[in-house]
Amino acid sequence: MATCLFCEIAQRRRPAEVVLDDPQALAFLDIYPSARGHTLVIPRAHAEYLGELDDALIGPLFQAVKRVTELLQRALGAQGFTVGLNHGRAAGQHVPHLHVHIIPRYAGDRGTGVQGVVRSAPDEPLAQVAAAVRRSAEPRPS
Ligand code: AMP
Ligand code: ZN
Repeated sequence: MATCLFCEIAQRRRPAEVVLDDPQALAFLDIYPSARGHTLVIPRAHAEYLGELDDALIGPLFQAVKRVTELLQRALGAQGFTVGLNHGRAAGQHVPHLHVHIIPRYAGDRGTGVQGVVRSAPDEPLAQVAAAVRRSAEPRPS
C-alpha cells in the first residue's frame, strides 16, 4: 500500500501532538483545529472505512473516543462535543485512514449540531426509506 499519513503517525514515523496512546488506537490533535482541543482518534490498523475495520477493533476505537472526551472535559473545560466521522469522499473525508473527529464545544461557540452539516431532506415518506433499508438486510436469493 502507498504511504498513509495516519499510519505514519500511528507508527510514530511522523510527528503529532499525541494525547492518548492505546494498544489499538491513537489520539492526536488535529493540525488545523476547528476548536481548542480538536482531536482525531484513529485505529492503529489501517482501514479506510468502518466496514474495513475488524469488528474486534471497533470497541477499542470507541473506548478511546470516550476516554478522550473525558480528558478534554477535564483539561480544557469542554462543555460538550461534536463527535463524528467524515465517512467517504462524499462526506468530506480527505485522509483515507478512518478517523473520528472530537470537536470540543463551548457555550456561545456559534457552531451547529451535526444536522447542520447537510440539508437535503427527501420528499419521500420515512416508511418508504425505512422499508428500503430493511430490505437490504434480508438475505439475497442465490
Ligand atoms: P477529513 O476531512 O475528515 O479526512 O479530516 C482530516 C483531518 O486531518 C483534517 O481536519 C486535517 O486538519 C487533519 N490533518 C491532516 N494532516 C494532519 C497531520 N499531519 N496531523 C494532524 N492532523 C492532520
Ligand atoms: Zn493508514
